[in-house]
Parts: sequence; C-alpha cells; structure tokens
Amino acid sequence: MPRYEYRCRECGELFELARPMAESSAPASCPAGHSDTVKLLSTVAMTGGAGRAPAPSAAGGGCCGGGCCG
Ligand SMILES: [Zn+2]
Repeated sequence: MPRYEYRCRECGELFELARPMAESSAPASCPAGHSDTVKLLSTVAMTGGAGRAPAPSAAGGGCCGGGCCG
C-alpha cells in the first residue's frame, strides 16, 4: 500500500499514512486530531506499488530531436 505524506496546517505536524490510492486525496487527520491538513508530494519510491513512473524513453524535444543522436 502506498504511503502518503501530509502536513497539518494547524500544528505543522508532518505525518505519513498508508492508504489505498483511491483514498490518497481523502481528508486525513493529523496525529493531534486536526483536520486541516494538506497532502504533500509523494516521496514513495520503492514500495513496489502501482507508481506513476515517467517513461524515460518518451519522445522529448531534447538532443535526439535534432539528429545528433543518430
Ligand atoms: Zn495538527
């Protein structure tokens, strides 16, 4: 299950929750019970879940666009 990081805007507490992706944007209460929290950018990397990995070989407008790579 992916983990998400949240920050409480009431007390500034940072906390993590492991929850299904479907609930990643659901309201989360901080450990102190405040409900005014924001979800931070996910730092999950190696949990082996269904991550959203950008394809490195996608067609970009970089070097290969000008023919210098072949
Ligand atoms: Zn709080």
